[in-house]
Amino acid sequence: MAGARCQTTGVESVIRGSAQILVVGGGPAGSTAAGLLAKEGFQVTLLEREHFPRYHIGESLLPSCRPVLETLGVWPKVAAAGFQPKGGAYYFWGPEEWEVRFKPGQDGSNAWQVVRSEFDQLLLEHARELGVEVAEGVTVRRLEFAGDRPVAATWTRTREPEVTGRIEFDYLVDASGRGGVMATRYLKNRRFHNVFRNVAAWSYWTGASQLDRGPAGAITVASLPHGWFWGIPLNDGTTSIGLVTGRDSFNQRRRELGSIQAVYHDSLRECKAVSDLLADAKQVTGVSVEQDYSYASDRFAGPGYLLAGDAACFLDPLLSTGVHLATYSALLGAAAIGSVLRGEVTEDEAWEFYAVTYRRAYERLLVLVSTFYESYRGKEYHFYRAQELSERDWEGLDLQAAFDRFVTGLADLDDAQQVYQRVKQHILGASSGDPNPLANLNRDHERRQAPLRPEKAIEGLYVSLEPRLALRRAAG
Ligand code: FAD
Repeated sequence: MAGARCQTTGVESVIRGSAQILVVGGGPAGSTAAGLLAKEGFQVTLLEREHFPRYHIGESLLPSCRPVLETLGVWPKVAAAGFQPKGGAYYFWGPEEWEVRFKPGQDGSNAWQVVRSEFDQLLLEHARELGVEVAEGVTVRRLEFAGDRPVAATWTRTREPEVTGRIEFDYLVDASGRGGVMATRYLKNRRFHNVFRNVAAWSYWTGASQLDRGPAGAITVASLPHGWFWGIPLNDGTTSIGLVTGRDSFNQRRRELGSIQAVYHDSLRECKAVSDLLADAKQVTGVSVEQDYSYASDRFAGPGYLLAGDAACFLDPLLSTGVHLATYSALLGAAAIGSVLRGEVTEDEAWEFYAVTYRRAYERLLVLVSTFYESYRGKEYHFYRAQELSERDWEGLDLQAAFDRFVTGLADLDDAQQVYQRVKQHILGASSGDPNPLANLNRDHERRQAPLRPEKAIEGLYVSLEPRLALRRAAG
């Protein structure tokens, strides 16, 4: 195997000069895809810009991550890592309050609130143990193409840009997160939705109280006229407290109040549910800000490459769906690449399956998040009106189909409109009956949605987990 030999402050390091699969980025999408492919015996190199453990936002996980982490073989490590078990969510939504309780597994919690630096490191180390060549502190700077197909990458050491190398590959998984190497530098095909043009501002507190109601370890979500707060208790003794608000009102208030910190604190004062939790607490970090606009690339896959996790699409954090989408897309992508490399399906078939399946999962959640915002009883507030899917959103993303799949997926009823009414009623608090779309974000529900059985095939293919991770053809 060819190797790029680099002299770094006297320490020689070698990164392969070629690999079957190059994964860019070692977040949940990258390490899951890389680990699953290495487990199947493929030769995988993963290049990660940072040295882990590195900070990342996105701490509240859904139970739907569990099946993928089990397939990867990392679930026992996650369960033993000492993270805060997450019993569900508690909502203060306009004048209403309600809770979502996740079903625990027989062996304990199905979901966790995680310190992401620790969680992501655990996944990356696991990928390394499965045989992935992992290089940290290495930034992919440039991709080379043969026609439309990426075939090689040039990298540099992040802290020593003079140290550089080149790696050739057969397949590329771009899991570079919101930076999105392929989508932003080469494909330039990211579309931002009209909805969810929001800004998030958050910091960490010690000494916060636990919520006195709802499931243990729940995420607290509390609305304001111009946005909402999350409160996530973490096992390191801190609580993550974040504000999500509209871009324009955020900028205007920042001008009026003079700083981001002032906007954050002013909003906290307006939010009794969360400020009560912080009565005796101390803010221990500055306020971080992210424009958490929602977007999707026009294409999730093309010749020789797949976009996974946030590199493909991003959704407003209201329902904590990011890590679920990252790990789910990694599972789909690993099954697709593995089957292509083994000659079981053509690249075109596998890519079509991947792109359609990941987009459906994303759009279904997009509809759910929007429906949730729509349920807020306070439509006089611009923020909530701005979260309704616009005509352009509906047209551009085939959201009507996504909506139909979403509602029919909930209850397997034929009458989508009837289910929609029931979903809305439930969210509005008028009924406590099933189906509960939020509690349904659990592993069983997500499994039912996923093409894991021949009858659930998409584009004639489904994912089989046994005896190996692969795409299989549905008979007929
Ligand atoms: P990332 O985790 O971002 O990983 C990408 C990796 O690629 C990074 O480590 C980066 O260093 C590396 N990289 C980038 N460019 C290069 C390059 N050129 N070369 C090499 N490496 C590179 N999700 C949840 O599930 N729950 C939540 O509660 C939640 N809250 C959120 C709140 C906010 C405000 C935001 C913005 C997001 C939130 N999310 C949440 C979303 C979640 O953070 C992401 O969806 C998730 O991290 C996506 O994982 P990923 O692996 O695709 O990308």
